[in-house]
Amino acid sequence: MKILEVKNLNIGFNLSDGFRQAIYDVNFSLEKGETLAIVGESGCGKTVSTMSILQLLPPSAEIKSGEIIYNGENLLSFSGKQMQKIRGKKIALIPQDPMTSLNPLYTIGNQLLEVIELHQGLKGKEAVEVAIKALERVKIPDAKEKMKAYPHEFSGGMKQRVIIAMALACNAEIIIADEPTTALDVTVQAQIMEILREIKEKYNISIILITHDLGIVAQNADKIAVMYAGRIVEYASDKQLFNAPKHPYTKALLNVILDINTDTVQTIEGHPPSITDDISGCPFHPRCKDCMEVCTQKDPCLKPVGASMVACHLYD
Ligand code: SF4
Repeated sequence: MKILEVKNLNIGFNLSDGFRQAIYDVNFSLEKGETLAIVGESGCGKTVSTMSILQLLPPSAEIKSGEIIYNGENLLSFSGKQMQKIRGKKIALIPQDPMTSLNPLYTIGNQLLEVIELHQGLKGKEAVEVAIKALERVKIPDAKEKMKAYPHEFSGGMKQRVIIAMALACNAEIIIADEPTTALDVTVQAQIMEILREIKEKYNISIILITHDLGIVAQNADKIAVMYAGRIVEYASDKQLFNAPKHPYTKALLNVILDINTDTVQTIEGHPPSITDDISGCPFHPRCKDCMEVCTQKDPCLKPVGASMVACHLYD
């Protein structure tokens, strides 16, 4: 069952030298209980596309067109007040940096109870029970005692578990996890991803996982959108993408991982374009080993190639 659908999303920013487009005709959907990974290098538009779902874009951003359909309604038409009932309650965000996402002045329990009271309408003993249960679900030991702790007493991984517990306590249907393990060390990364996998399976939660790490994607995603320069350049199931990658950028990203495994790190030459660069043709063409003349003139559209969707002139 489709729970979220992003349709023809175009977003830009009003900068000092005028309007600059950042997101070009982005389309993706999310099924119940599915993990969609959005991958790409920094600045490729992953976070801007997904923060628009929660109306959490900076004031300089402008959504030019598109629809974000959640349970049959377009979230882009929602007022700030309507969005307050969606944010945290129905669609929760796990941000990149757990260190700054909890208030250092309040205990973990206070912060959990505030969310539960606001979104679930529970108070007193009932709210405390829900909070403790949520902490237990994310495997925080001595959950009852830990309710009294302050964030500085928790490690980064434990703080990230508390954020996930907040989403669980409110019965969120969708979790947007924005590089949820970037600030954590490798063993803690694995534990957090394991918890996300477990809650997805147990509670049928849908997850949008934003990451630049294809290793994490391989273990967690059902479907993948590869983004470059604000466009989706390949959209495929995990099997399709890893067994038969089609877009030269996807192949280049996968080669980086393979070379790391054999101890020889090979990077993709060059840099992604910035929002202020004027791009002609395919935005990947200055870095693409398969570049043809048409690539310097015409931006390819996303279209079906086998079971995948690909934006590349190689498949014209
Ligand atoms: Fe490379 Fe051309 Fe495909 Fe762009 S359209 S990825 S430049 S082959």
